[in-house]
Amino acid sequence: MSIIDKEGLLSFLVRAFRLSSFFYFLKKPLLLLRIAKVAFYYAVLKKNILWKADLSLLGDCNLNCQHCFAHNFKTTAQKKYNKKELSTVEIISVIKECSSMGIFNFDFQGGEVLLHSDLETIIKATKPSRSYINIVTNGILFNEDWAVKLKRWGVDEISFSLDSYIPEEHDNLRNKPEVFSKLMKAIKIAQKYKFQILIFTTVTHKTLRSEGVRCLHNFTLKNNFIQQLFIGIPIGKWLGRTDILINDDDHKYMEKLAKNTKYNIRRDMTPHFFRSGCPAVKESFYMTPYGDILPCPFIHISLGNIRDHYLKDIIERALTIEEFKNYCPVCLIGEDKGFINKYGKKLFQCEESPINGDEILDFKTNLPHRLTPLVN
Ligand code: SF4
Repeated sequence: MSIIDKEGLLSFLVRAFRLSSFFYFLKKPLLLLRIAKVAFYYAVLKKNILWKADLSLLGDCNLNCQHCFAHNFKTTAQKKYNKKELSTVEIISVIKECSSMGIFNFDFQGGEVLLHSDLETIIKATKPSRSYINIVTNGILFNEDWAVKLKRWGVDEISFSLDSYIPEEHDNLRNKPEVFSKLMKAIKIAQKYKFQILIFTTVTHKTLRSEGVRCLHNFTLKNNFIQQLFIGIPIGKWLGRTDILINDDDHKYMEKLAKNTKYNIRRDMTPHFFRSGCPAVKESFYMTPYGDILPCPFIHISLGNIRDHYLKDIIERALTIEEFKNYCPVCLIGEDKGFINKYGKKLFQCEESPINGDEILDFKTNLPHRLTPLVN
């Protein structure tokens, strides 16, 4: 695959034009420069560069969803390793390390991130005038007060988790009545306050073509939102459920959907910065509330813990693993048979989450330890 593909360029332009109102970048001039730097790396230097961090700030949640992928992090961290969640000062140190590596896109999530008592301090640590900030929420708590505060703190985008446009189906997955109706109110408020809106939808082989998901596509397109499709992975509460995995036809169906909607309905492997394919480690990573750095939210292998090692070292060593160094055209953990046979089968049966990467990945070196603690 060439470093810039045509579809990647189109997808990049779609996203860029959404953001590129003159007034928008007047508010965030340094963000434009940082985006340009990443584009320069991809287009001119022909190199990959990390630009996005998915940071889970806490495990607490106000819902108990049937398909929560983060379900086992808490038990493993607390019962097996006696680890505590990162404190606010530790999270701020992580953000500083991310920024020094050129990361400008911060996705804050949980649990339910709006339950975090220091959200303002954490958001401000990203230096919002030069960062693109996304809040991932189930929508229950999001109201006018939150909209005003998040706008004031410099948040750009709100991602609402919404799995079906049929209220009973969504509520059923979320294990609580009236979640759908609260979410619809939240989305209206986010529209009123002019946030970029993303709809995060988890699909499985069974639900991909269902009426609830198809109606959700229409809702997304009618309102000019972006819908991000995540495929179900047999981890977390769906541990062992390999029946949910998608097949080749499902993959083609989603690819066509992305093209036909000019990438407004997309997957995380739909190109962001000129490239298509799985972005894990090359472009982005996920951090658990306990500081474990994972390739993405769904590959539950710890590449190293941020309390023990520098982020730069963790990422550099992870990129020595072929599967993370190269762009895989399909989802590594949900579709790539080689990756699933090698690692997925173990992950799909293991209550421990994440698994220690030093035990499962073929690393040739040990990670150097931090010279100074994460917070000193
Ligand atoms: S492994 Fe799959 S879910 Fe994870 S980043 Fe790659 S494409 Fe996305």
